[in-house]
Amino acid sequence: MSKYSDILLQYKQTKRIWKYDKESRLLLRRKKDVVAWDTETTGLLFHRPSILFDDNHRVVQNPFPFGISLCFPHKNNLVLVWGRWNTDLYKACLELLAKNSMKVAHNSKYDLRVCKTNGIEVNGTQLCTLTMSRIYWDRRKSHSLQALSEFICPGISDWEVDLKKELTKLRRQWGKRKDEWNPAWTDDPKEYVNYSFLPNEMIGNYSQTDVFVGWQLFQKLSPYMADEYGDIFDREMAVTHVVTKIEEAGMGFDAKRGRAELKVLLPKIKLKRRILDELSPPDFTLGPKKILEALKFLGVKSKQLKAKGKETTSVDVLNQAVRDGVPKRAERFIKVLLDFRAYSKIANTYLKPLTEQAERTGGTVYTTINPTDSRTGRPASRDPNLLNIPNQDVKQRGRQNHVRECFVPRKSRRYKNMKIILPVYDELQIEWNGAIYYFDISQQEFAMFFSYAGADDLVRAYLDGADLHQHMADLLGRPDKRKIIKNQNFGVIYGLGIRVMAASQNISIEQAKEEMKIYYNEFPFIGELQRRLKDELRLYGYVTDYFGRRYHVPYGQAYKAANAIVQGGCAQAFKQGLLQTDELLTKKHKNEKRFCESVIKAMGEVKETMDVGLKFRVDVKRTTTNWADKKTLIWCPNCKLGIQINKEQEKDEKPVRCSRCKKEWFFSERN
Ligand SMILES: [Zn+2]
Repeated sequence: MSKYSDILLQYKQTKRIWKYDKESRLLLRRKKDVVAWDTETTGLLFHRPSILFDDNHRVVQNPFPFGISLCFPHKNNLVLVWGRWNTDLYKACLELLAKNSMKVAHNSKYDLRVCKTNGIEVNGTQLCTLTMSRIYWDRRKSHSLQALSEFICPGISDWEVDLKKELTKLRRQWGKRKDEWNPAWTDDPKEYVNYSFLPNEMIGNYSQTDVFVGWQLFQKLSPYMADEYGDIFDREMAVTHVVTKIEEAGMGFDAKRGRAELKVLLPKIKLKRRILDELSPPDFTLGPKKILEALKFLGVKSKQLKAKGKETTSVDVLNQAVRDGVPKRAERFIKVLLDFRAYSKIANTYLKPLTEQAERTGGTVYTTINPTDSRTGRPASRDPNLLNIPNQDVKQRGRQNHVRECFVPRKSRRYKNMKIILPVYDELQIEWNGAIYYFDISQQEFAMFFSYAGADDLVRAYLDGADLHQHMADLLGRPDKRKIIKNQNFGVIYGLGIRVMAASQNISIEQAKEEMKIYYNEFPFIGELQRRLKDELRLYGYVTDYFGRRYHVPYGQAYKAANAIVQGGCAQAFKQGLLQTDELLTKKHKNEKRFCESVIKAMGEVKETMDVGLKFRVDVKRTTTNWADKKTLIWCPNCKLGIQINKEQEKDEKPVRCSRCKKEWFFSERN
């Protein structure tokens, strides 16, 4: 392992290559086992226009690699190459990428996709240092090169500083220009001044340092990946490839519907804004300072606006202030402000960018999928986040979600084949032949938790289809206490304190303590699991999930250990299920029922949990119209036709009737 000073010395002794001459030609052509590489691009988001700044500036529709940097050893030194687009050195870099040597990149998923989109061939085994870092340094929140270099090599950790300053300066300059350089799709220079605008020497130096840090991470982490984390690393890399495929498939989006929703929403936002202006002092703007000023002007007390000693305008604080009592006009202001924010978020984060993208692409939108969300370890989506699309007008129109209404199955023949279009949290969305199927794992965390605790009876009840919280309330002889049990189950899994649990059950702390006593007495295996995990932490410094992944929880926070192995284990199980499903989709399917059953099996039956007797229940919903309209899918017991049923039918309040064979029956009677 290199010490800080060794890395710094290596950095100072690197050989830098900026030009394609006799010497660099020889160095690049020499046979190599491993090469670290990085691309510098005009943007980060695919299927969005950006500007390539060069002699002939032009608009490109995807992130364009305007420079490539490489790092490889030569004799006792490291060689750092920066090849700018349109030069001989750039071409030589491309040739090297096409060779079969092992390639290492930080977030290789991104660089590989950039290359694929731009017709650049990259061959050889692909390794990702971001993935390695997420596995090995499981406690770290940030795995950016900058953040990691701060502790593997603090001596070179500030190489981004000058570049960020220069970028801010350039944005100020370009923001003032109103000529042909200002692109049509935006007048915000934040959106079009990118790294390709920077002076070549500056961006080249930056990129060379990036790839140098990447090389150091590879040196440090790859031995562990080859050894004790082998299976986990292989699974994560495989997931990365599947996720890239999913990102490229995109999702169907009805641009006309999006426009129509915006047409309704934008005037509402304007109106709310006008009311805010009317209620507040004359120079009101939407900055947080001005909002605080306006609230105090309307008679809200400073202490009502404080959370952790600081004034804030967060939703929770504002709602609490209203509950505690504020003047009438202040209450109105707060309500309008919260509406304004909710509407603006739906319009600006979701409807506007998605509609514009669907208009450009002819009905497909693209999201970025992070295979490992730092909070849960599961896949999450961003730009925009499709996991938590807020509802609009909760009070007035029920829980309508107008953004989800725009997500539709694509009808043309091109989209006839099965493909996964969104894997987030515990749900897989699969598009097939004019319909979208939603497979989600039911009560996964609780099933996982009780399995770790060795509560075989509860695991069996789960497999038989019981609602775990209700089942436990029944065991206590208190069937009406499902809510409390659910809250307690959440509390122990997420490591919530007694205060939080009391607040969410709306009971006193004393009562909550009393309830917890009953809970621990009746379900002794829960306390036993917590003690066992604490012992493991003391012995090893980490706890381990069913997949062999380690979680370094500080001993003083041992109450978080159960959460770590439950969340982490669920994430691993979901990813394994994703891989098994992806494999399944390469085969041809004709029969809908058998297709759904095989996905349910692929997602629910994962070797590592099956070995301990745990299989996951998977529910399936379907839509042929839009996401908001998805409904539970079942099969006619007589003729096996797939039938979507509504809430009343699910509750057995109304019978289900098959449109093909006309048989009628109740949901609970199905087999
Ligand atoms: Zn039938």
